[in-house]
Amino acid sequence: MEAAMTDDSPKYVYDFSEGNKDLKDLLGGKGANLAEMTNLGLPVPPGFTITTEACTVYLETGSTPESLDDEVATHLDALEKARGKKLGDPNDPLLVSVRSGAKFSMPGMMETVLNVGLNDQSVEGLARQADNERFAWDSYRRLIQMFGKTVQDIEGEAFEDAIEEIKREKGTQNDLDLDADDLRHLVDVYKGIVREHTGEDFPQDPREQMTAAINAVFDSWNSDRAVLYRRQERIPADLGTAVNVVAMVFGNMGMDSGTGVAFTRDPGTGEQGVYGDYLQNAQGEDVVAGIRNTVPLQDLEKIDKTSYDRLMEIMATLEGHYRDLCDIEFTIEAGQLWMLQTRVGKRTAAAAFRIASQLVDEGVIDLDEAVQRVTGDQLVHLMFPQFDTSAKVQQLGRGMSASPGAAVGKAVFDSYTAVKWSRSGEDVILVRRETNPDDLNGMIAAKGILTSRGGKTSHAAVVARGMGKTCVCGAEELQVNTKRRFLTAPDGTEVHEGDVISIDGSTGRVYLGEVPVVDSPVVEYFEGVESSGDLVHAVDRIMKHADEKRRLGVRANADTAEDAERARRFGAEGIGLCRTEHMFLGERRQHVERLILAEDDEQRDAALEALLPLQRWDFLQLLTAMDGLPTTIRLLDPPLHEFLPNITELSVRVALAESRGEKNENDLRLMQAVHRLHESNPMLGLRGVRLGLVVPGLFNLQVRAIAEAAAQLVKLHKNPKPEIMIPLVGSVQELEIIRADAEQVLQEVAEETGEELNILIGTMIELPRAALTADQIAESAEFFSFGTNDLTQTTWGFSRDDVEAAFFSTYLEVGIFGVSPFETIDVDGVGELVRIGTDKGRATRPDLKVGVCGEHGGDPDSVHFFNQVGLDYVSCSPFRVPVARLEAARATVAQEGSSDSR
Ligand code: ADP
Ligand code: MG
Ligand code: MG
Repeated sequence: MEAAMTDDSPKYVYDFSEGNKDLKDLLGGKGANLAEMTNLGLPVPPGFTITTEACTVYLETGSTPESLDDEVATHLDALEKARGKKLGDPNDPLLVSVRSGAKFSMPGMMETVLNVGLNDQSVEGLARQADNERFAWDSYRRLIQMFGKTVQDIEGEAFEDAIEEIKREKGTQNDLDLDADDLRHLVDVYKGIVREHTGEDFPQDPREQMTAAINAVFDSWNSDRAVLYRRQERIPADLGTAVNVVAMVFGNMGMDSGTGVAFTRDPGTGEQGVYGDYLQNAQGEDVVAGIRNTVPLQDLEKIDKTSYDRLMEIMATLEGHYRDLCDIEFTIEAGQLWMLQTRVGKRTAAAAFRIASQLVDEGVIDLDEAVQRVTGDQLVHLMFPQFDTSAKVQQLGRGMSASPGAAVGKAVFDSYTAVKWSRSGEDVILVRRETNPDDLNGMIAAKGILTSRGGKTSHAAVVARGMGKTCVCGAEELQVNTKRRFLTAPDGTEVHEGDVISIDGSTGRVYLGEVPVVDSPVVEYFEGVESSGDLVHAVDRIMKHADEKRRLGVRANADTAEDAERARRFGAEGIGLCRTEHMFLGERRQHVERLILAEDDEQRDAALEALLPLQRWDFLQLLTAMDGLPTTIRLLDPPLHEFLPNITELSVRVALAESRGEKNENDLRLMQAVHRLHESNPMLGLRGVRLGLVVPGLFNLQVRAIAEAAAQLVKLHKNPKPEIMIPLVGSVQELEIIRADAEQVLQEVAEETGEELNILIGTMIELPRAALTADQIAESAEFFSFGTNDLTQTTWGFSRDDVEAAFFSTYLEVGIFGVSPFETIDVDGVGELVRIGTDKGRATRPDLKVGVCGEHGGDPDSVHFFNQVGLDYVSCSPFRVPVARLEAARATVAQEGSSDSR
């Protein structure tokens, strides 16, 4: 086989015996794990894998690499020898499946063609060999159906309608009632469909079938739904898929055959014990497509004890080997068990935490690894509210708990409506008999998904779990009529399109109307409410270990004492950002207006004086809540006109007064001020430190309020730790002037109160110029906090409010962004400024404290980046604090891992 390779062309084909589980980049997940199972000595049908590299060549150039044909021929030869059969042999044909398999699993997104190698002659040979005509013709009709759909782009419905038609003629619902003659007839009909759609006959040359199927699998990488799925799951677009060519084994040979899927633990709850579905006399997709009702895996023990026992043995082997929950696909051919796929299985958030904790108890993994086995996103998921079951509710029915969460919305019965309604701001629940990949858009748009058919391994369940979306599947007692858009509950209640329903993905229950929701037990745990259960136990031990492990500090963004207290309970080690603008709204607006309208020093000072006790009171409360912990208070940031009345309101008021012949002097002056202060680009206007420089006394007032509050608390033997933060600094000179003023105020307050105050003064780094001149700025700043929202806006040169609606969807679509830079930090651009700013700042002042505030502080990927750059802390919203704690620890463990292996 080596002969086919020249020195400069890479090896594009690997026999299963040549690969292993770590070669996912090259062989895809399916191929790598098929190889791993082969090498473990498990019963895997022989086969080979065409690499993802061959796929990328094909996608880039439009044709497969030159050497590929020869390599495939050599491997096919070996496969034929191993099976003692030849592809296309009219008397005893070898059949193969051609299966997609990318690095990351993309359930149902790409294509697989089974029974490749059958034609008008070999179908007879297969029938004779198996002594089973029905089986042979069933296999042939499946090939034409899958080939037609996948390779020749024929609407699947054409084939489905044809089989429905034959079943109707026969008066049956069950495809098992179709006999050999029916299926032979169906093959004729199918061939007619192919001819009609392509103008050509179904290809009879097996090798031609195989090549066409391989190329179709490559093409399926760029199918609309695959592209959409990758975007949703943040899977890079350039990985390509591998193709596995596998000798067929047959689950459709009779009742002693069948096919199934299984998990080594329950992927929904994490409960120990195998879990799965089995279907007799069936092939491939039948199980997941929900075409016939499957039986629970446990029933296999009665059907075929030998295979069942062997399967249990193999599942234990796989769990031991992968040290994690595995899911598998298997087929039994006439009493002989074959393994067709395995991988470390997807699971719900709760299952992830429970399983990680169980595996620690079982001594399989340590706590470091347990921290790696869960994610911040999963934790977020567990913090979702749940239904309040003590409320009076009307249960419509019950299905399986496919993906947890509590979702409420209007029932819609097709994906198109789901998308349309959700665009106009409605919450919708997508109700289907079963979903298929074409429903993906609707599933993304919906709050939750409800199906009446299919098990926990159905398309709806798998995809919803992957997206972290609430899903109840297989609610068979509900009759769903998608054509007429309603469902009927067993008690006769009807739910029509637009009626509100509530679905509970954790219990599988479906309710009529809107059921109230309550906090999750995990949130209660963080809140310090007495709570128990193995989930809380798992979260507790993993979070405790995470806190021991992480290097990065975690603070919260909180403006009020109430938020600060919650943040503390959630594990915040300080406040990274207290915005003060909220403190000037409501009744205090009048003082700000007076400040803006002041005509002389006296009027201005009076306005400031009125504000001082109010501000002091704010900080007293905040610093009391955060006693002993650093509390970063940002001086006023937004442009002043934000505090003035809305121009339209004001105009109306003035006009009304005029019509009554009155004249409100104050309103008129306000009008003038609004016009005077109007800005074309407020985001880039008179705000932040600029405000402090042009409005005399404003920042001093805030500094004084902070200092006086701190002094007062020190007198009460408290330990306030305020830090003063200046926003929007672009040059060190700005900071120097404000700093000098602030220091003077601090000095005055210290003298007045007789308390020694140690209050740090630092700045936000949120302008590119600040990052680039951070060495100078650090001369005057005791800490930096990266304001990554503004830094993203100013680095990219766009204002968030304008761009998100205007063109972000296009940017995401054409791939300029993989993900919005406001969600996850743009490492190459904005991140580089963070790196430069940190390095330059520390070059000047080695003990400079550096943090980040802004939404990125609670985003898992961004947290990993901030850890890597060496920041001291991240600050995020209180609710995100546990996520940041966990992800900071995961980042540390990952970093240790990668340096170990170096
Ligand atoms: P997916 O990635 O969508 O799971 P697969 O490539 O796993 O697609 O194929 C789907 C199903 O087809 C498998 O679960 C298995 O039941 C069946 N199948 C694939 N290859 C073979 C084979 N060589 N013999 C028998 N059944 C097969
Ligand atoms: Mg599969
Ligand atoms: Mg800012």
